[in-house]
Amino acid sequence: MELPYRSYAEDCKKAFGSRLQKLSVHAGFTCPNRDGRCGVGGCTYCDNAAFNPSYCRRVGDIRTQLEEGKRFHAWRYRKASKYVAYFQTYSNTYAPLDVLKARYGEALSVEGIEGLIVSTRPDCLPDETLAYLADLSRQCYVRVEIGIESCYDDTLRRINRGHDMACTRDAYRRAAAHGLACGGHLMFGLPGESRADMVAQAALLSELPALDSLKLHQLQIIKHTAMAAEYEAHPERFSFFTVEEYVELVVDFLERLSPHIRIERLAGEVPPRFLGGPAFGLRSERVAERIVARMRERGTYQGRLYPPA
Ligand code: SF4
Repeated sequence: MELPYRSYAEDCKKAFGSRLQKLSVHAGFTCPNRDGRCGVGGCTYCDNAAFNPSYCRRVGDIRTQLEEGKRFHAWRYRKASKYVAYFQTYSNTYAPLDVLKARYGEALSVEGIEGLIVSTRPDCLPDETLAYLADLSRQCYVRVEIGIESCYDDTLRRINRGHDMACTRDAYRRAAAHGLACGGHLMFGLPGESRADMVAQAALLSELPALDSLKLHQLQIIKHTAMAAEYEAHPERFSFFTVEEYVELVVDFLERLSPHIRIERLAGEVPPRFLGGPAFGLRSERVAERIVARMRERGTYQGRLYPPA
């Protein structure tokens, strides 16, 4: 049955003729919000270890990580997949262009790697990097994923993102000028935002040129982060969705989102050993199924209320 939203995975299957398997790579980059260039301590929720699969703990040695990743996934799925290198940890465009070229080139030289996904911050995308990535995208599959997290400057300050929404808009505008389509990450449930604020972001994101896919996450507190300490000291500053509340919120959001933006993820999932706060207790696929079921029950679909009246 057709999904009531535009699915990134389905689009990839059509484009590639098979499943697109990402192989995560820790390529030795750091982050300007950690090394002092724009901030120290990082975003308050950040602990990259919580998001990395076991085969990419090591810094550097991109080829070995990708070979291990291929072995891991070949065993797990036993189905034909196409592989892309997923530069996921920290800010993967935060280096001089010759360093980027060498690290991306190493990944692309590994047999079976068909392209790159590069995760980064909006303030780490100078024009020369965008021009290079746009050029590379004419030779192989290239996606840039930008951490948006929130469209509100008050929230971005509160979680110590080290950039504002104007910076995010500028990154997408310049990516579009270079002919690059980009993904984005958004987090629901950040402290200080009302439900109406969260839903209203659908219209703000729909205006971003170059944004053509989104990953949606609910806030999850990761142990030993600044946010975990804040939660322990001031639990009253946080409120967490029940699964039912989250499902309803995402449905309301999707109704107001441009139908051109593909949805890559509907909920996040942190391994339980990293969790320092409440969680749904459900795998993210189950949450996604509930969202789809609720959209069907409500007879609605992505973009039903887009553009806003
Ligand atoms: S920008 Fe990314 S890597 Fe850097 S502190 Fe924030 S979440 Fe962590």
